[in-house]
Amino acid sequence: MNQIKTIAVLTSGGDAPGMNAAVRAVVRTGIYNGFKVLGINKGYEGLLNGDIEEMQLRSVGDIIQRGGTVLQTARSSEFATPAGLEKAMSMAKVFSIDALVVIGGDGSFRGAKDLCELGMNVIGIPGTIDNDIACTEYTLGYDTAMNTVLDAIDKIRDTSYSHERCSVLEVMGRKAGWIAINCGIAGGAEAIILPEKEFDIDKDIVIPIIDGRNRGKKHYLVIVAEGVGGAVDIAKYIEEKTQITTRATILGYIQRGGSPTITDRVMGSRLGARAIQCLAEGRNNRVVAINDGKLVDIDIMEALSMKKTIDNELINLSKILAL
Ligand code: ATP
Repeated sequence: MNQIKTIAVLTSGGDAPGMNAAVRAVVRTGIYNGFKVLGINKGYEGLLNGDIEEMQLRSVGDIIQRGGTVLQTARSSEFATPAGLEKAMSMAKVFSIDALVVIGGDGSFRGAKDLCELGMNVIGIPGTIDNDIACTEYTLGYDTAMNTVLDAIDKIRDTSYSHERCSVLEVMGRKAGWIAINCGIAGGAEAIILPEKEFDIDKDIVIPIIDGRNRGKKHYLVIVAEGVGGAVDIAKYIEEKTQITTRATILGYIQRGGSPTITDRVMGSRLGARAIQCLAEGRNNRVVAINDGKLVDIDIMEALSMKKTIDNELINLSKILAL
């Protein structure tokens, strides 16, 4: 028999557009299915501090269009310790929490897995702009972030073209270059430098720029993922070697914000509803995910053991299209 009566939801790690759509869906489909739903503020930190309140249907009104997360988020080092986990479990007991829905990235899921090992029922919803969670093709915030980056690329291209310059643009992605590769292809980059692949600055950046100039190109774009870093030094090196005026731009936190795109709103709604469906059907300790375009749920242990790499097809395509 399914003993779950009270579900709590939190957002953790970096905020991502679409998290609010997921919170809204968890609250509304949760109440629709007869659960009591609690909202935990500021991620695991809020769980430790008992910063928890009951959510009503109206608590999540007027949030689907907002970026960030109305529940706020945090990174808690205390939570990730054995004492922190025990404290989180006792606080969950105080609030009679039978199941916890965690919206966040890989680190947040590791925290959820630890709670699951201590007896808590958990469901993970992938929310991070980096799209670096192995068990799913899609993570909340990814589409909005890519559109923000593409908008910046288009603007930088205008000035780059007018001045016949090279632009080096650093985009988010600490361990994964998903934003970099897709925005590089969509924005027509001459070179895309990813954290997953070693690079040689002459072979992978300078020579393609010089070859491009010899073929008549007038402006150049290099995308560097945050995990590689060094955009300013790369720009200096390019200018030194090619004599082309080169400017570096680090996009930074602008990529996290903004109103979620339709994809993030619909994905957030579907993933949130699937999380509740899992709990209603007694399928606990799952990560909800998108695979081959379909909504699925995967055992959390299995989900955390998976690996994800960028397809060589995308990397090869980016090189051919830069010719
Ligand atoms: P993003 O991809 O946006 O960085 P994330 O969920 O990976 O999101 P983290 O800062 O790695 O972000 O994790 C969020 C919180 O989850 C941490 O502050 C910590 O409280 C908890 N956490 C992270 N890793 C672990 C772990 N290995 N064990 C237990 N808890 C963890």
